[in-house]
Amino acid sequence: MGQILAIANQKGGVGKTTTSVNLGACLAYIGKKVLLVDVDPQGNATSGVGVEKAYVEQCIYDVLVDDIEADEVIKETKVENLFVIPATIQLAGAEIELVPTISREVRLKRALEEVKDRFDYIIIDCPPSLGLLTLNALTASDAVLIPVQCEYYALEGLSQLLNTVRLVQKHLNHDLKIEGVLLTMLDARTNLGIQVIEEVKKYFQDKVYKTIIPRNVRLSEAPSHGEPIIIYDPKSRGAEVYLDLAKEVVSNG
Ligand code: ADP
Ligand code: MG
Repeated sequence: MGQILAIANQKGGVGKTTTSVNLGACLAYIGKKVLLVDVDPQGNATSGVGVEKAYVEQCIYDVLVDDIEADEVIKETKVENLFVIPATIQLAGAEIELVPTISREVRLKRALEEVKDRFDYIIIDCPPSLGLLTLNALTASDAVLIPVQCEYYALEGLSQLLNTVRLVQKHLNHDLKIEGVLLTMLDARTNLGIQVIEEVKKYFQDKVYKTIIPRNVRLSEAPSHGEPIIIYDPKSRGAEVYLDLAKEVVSNG
C-alpha cells in the first residue's frame, strides 16, 4: 500500500519543490514506483520533472474542482517509475473556487484513494501557504515532511505550521504523522548553519532526518533543464544527499 507524504512549509524558498522532485526521483531510482502530485499553482515541480506546463491540458485543478479522475491526469516523466500529476497556473483559482464546495478539504484524499495502491510513494508538493490546497494535501497524507532552511529565523513560522497539523489531526485526518524535519541549504562554511542545526534538533529531537541537504549549485541548475538531479548530474553532491534521504525515508517505513 502506498505511503502519501506531503512536503509542506508555508514559507517560500525553503526547498519544498527541490525536495519533492528529487526525493521523488531518487525513490524511483532505487526502484520504488512514485507519483509526484503538484499542488502549487506555480507548477515548479511539474516543470522540474520535465513536463511543459504550456502543453498540459488537464491538471490537478481539474481533479480538485471538476471531479476528473486522478488516473486521467497522470503523466510519465523522464525518470523511469516516476509519474506526475501536473499543476498549471489555473490552480491559482482553486483556492477560492473550492471554498463553497462540498467536502472541500477532502477532495485530494478522495482522488488519490483511487490510485494509491498502484504506487509505493505519493509525494505532494505544497504551495507556500496554509490555505485550502495545503489543507487538502495534509488531509490526504499519511505523514508530512517539513523542509527547514538552515538560516536565521529557521524556526519562525513553524509553530503556525505545527498548529495547522494539529488541527488537521483533530478534525480531518487523525492518522497524520510528522514524518520528519529536513534541514536544507546548509552552508557548511558558516557557523550559523551549525547553530541552526542544533536549535532545530533541540526542538524536534529524533524527528530531524540524519541526512542534511547542503547548498549545491547543481541542485539549483537542474530545474531549468527539466531534470531531477539524479538525471542532470548523478555524480553531484546534491544527487548523493537526495539518494541518502530516499534511503532514510524507506528505512523509516
Ligand atoms: P520552495 O518550494 O520551498 O519555495 P524551492 O525548492 O523552490 O523552495 O527552492 C528555492 C530556491 O532555492 C530554488 O531556486 C532552488 O533551486 C534553490 N535550492 C533549493 N535547494 C537548494 C540547495 N540544496 N542548494 C542550492 N539551491 C537550492
Ligand atoms: Mg515550491
